[in-house]
Amino acid sequence: MAGPAVLPKSVLEKAQSELVNYENSGMSVMELSHRSSLFETIIENAETLLRELMNIPDNYKVLFLQGGASSWSKKAISEAKKIDTVEVQVIASSEDKNFTYIPEVHLEDIPQDAAYLHITTNNTIEGTTIYDLPKTGKVPLIADMSSNILSINYNVADFGLIYAGAQKNIGPAGLTVVIVREDLIGQVDVLSAMLDYDIHAKNGSMYNTPPTYSIYIAKLVFEWIKEQGGVSQMEKLNKEKSAILYNEIDASALFSSPVNPKDRSINNIPFITGNDALDKKFNQEAIAAGFENLKGHRSVGGMRASLYNAFPKVGVEALIHLMKKFESENGGTK
Ligand SMILES: *Cc1c(COP(=O)(O)O)cnc(C)c1O
Repeated sequence: MAGPAVLPKSVLEKAQSELVNYENSGMSVMELSHRSSLFETIIENAETLLRELMNIPDNYKVLFLQGGASSWSKKAISEAKKIDTVEVQVIASSEDKNFTYIPEVHLEDIPQDAAYLHITTNNTIEGTTIYDLPKTGKVPLIADMSSNILSINYNVADFGLIYAGAQKNIGPAGLTVVIVREDLIGQVDVLSAMLDYDIHAKNGSMYNTPPTYSIYIAKLVFEWIKEQGGVSQMEKLNKEKSAILYNEIDASALFSSPVNPKDRSINNIPFITGNDALDKKFNQEAIAAGFENLKGHRSVGGMRASLYNAFPKVGVEALIHLMKKFESENGGTK
């Protein structure tokens, strides 16, 4: 799904056990002042864990902010165009084929005086992923990593800035994580302090009230990922989970994947029957079987399985079982 997603059960249980009385404070984390030492420990631990999990170099700031990630690449283009002094150049797009593949980016097409190159590492709706990052020369690479942060072991040092809404792989909605190379902030006057990463960095994400409870849950999720073996292990498990689903889709006479095979996402897996009525029927049966969020994004239709870090392999196996049953009952209509 494109909205909030599955959280590890053990994280929810830990949060439940601490909900009313956090560390004998007599208060919930929700009631703690963001300036209290208990909350300061939470945000510091969250940052330390994220630095460890993503191997974030020391010359990068980690910010925990409100605001959302809503940008993707089309929006990044239209938003940048609103600023008079910014000249936007689209050097690669797969819009010609409904974003079902990753277009090639050639270094010679990137003006070396550009302020940045923006990408979306995982297209949550269409189900594509950029596995090989474009070579940008000295132009900083900026990425919307909302739907595959902590799922794939990217090298943070390859990016100038990474931003991600927390609600898919990290924690509850309301938190946006920003990882930014120090030399890229504080260079220009920003219209509003709330949009100024320099101010947020100098204030340790506490220029204003940060989304405290979401940061607390994020910290628990980071601990959980560490216990599972870290991001490489997450990537390995996500590859295994997605491979069994892709194998099923590729072997099926009824279901197919609209995405270019080498660009297929391990997190978001759209599939279709090629027949809107059958897609609808399958989605209805999926809901009846307990798959609440299988319907494809409203802009593309069909089905989409979102296999984020916390989605269990048994869930994928249950989906495959349902697909096999549906195919045997409705097959041959493709
Ligand atoms: C879900 C998602 C977002 C979310 O943006 P919000 O403003 O937090 O709703 C942004 N980018 C991508 C790629 C996403 O998948």
